[in-house]
Amino acid sequence: MFKKIISKKDWIIENSYKERSKESRSKSKNLNIEVMSIGETFGKDRPTLVFATNNLHKLEEVRAIIGGQFEIKSLGDIGCNADIPETSDTLQGNALQKAEYVKTNYGFDCFADDTGLLCDALNGAPGVHTARYADVDGSSHDSEANMAKLLENLSGKDNRSARFQTSIALIYKGETHFFDGVVNGTIATEKHGEHGFGYDPVFVPEGYDRTFAELSSEIKNTISHRARAVQQLSMFLKNAK
Ligand code: IMP
Repeated sequence: MFKKIISKKDWIIENSYKERSKESRSKSKNLNIEVMSIGETFGKDRPTLVFATNNLHKLEEVRAIIGGQFEIKSLGDIGCNADIPETSDTLQGNALQKAEYVKTNYGFDCFADDTGLLCDALNGAPGVHTARYADVDGSSHDSEANMAKLLENLSGKDNRSARFQTSIALIYKGETHFFDGVVNGTIATEKHGEHGFGYDPVFVPEGYDRTFAELSSEIKNTISHRARAVQQLSMFLKNAK
């Protein structure tokens, strides 16, 4: 019984809601109900905290850091299939929008994140538009097109300094808190490396001469914007308990 439920849960997380058909969405809705009830049992001696994401990679990263203290549930775990709006013009605003959506509609204490790549020579672009930088109709995340647009917009510019920033908004015990993690670096003139995702092949973190996509995931997970933001969240939660 246990094994069966866990594999269903993984299936839900791995299959992005956006990419699935209506039919499979209603199928996963039914599965979520089962997962939720099992999750409540597991979380008996740990308070529940929702991470407003269905990204399995992010969930694993966060559970490894704060999963001992809290039962970290994903959106799928609480039966939330909504495409939560992110309409703010700041990373913190978008993160807060997602956390508030969960608190208001599901009642759980919650945190959410939003990440942007900010280039100095482009006045902070792509910024809040990082995920859909090259997208004309706002419907897809195409990393190749995003990187091509970034390299094009920076071509001929001397200043290639940039930073990744992850902002986390936490709603906890009636109060809102923000945590920012930043990694400074530069944008390479062309893509290098195979690891990672998003803009990794063009981002060279400060202190390294290789892109994120050329570095091991161990190194990236130690110095990344997201790791730094989650470490801050973790320290806050440890002290808050
Ligand atoms: P999100 O807010 O975590 O979904 O990140 C927004 C966008 O930023 C993603 O779609 C990626 O394009 C980019 N991004 C976020 N984190 C990273 C990273 O660690 N490496 C490369 N690109 C990233």
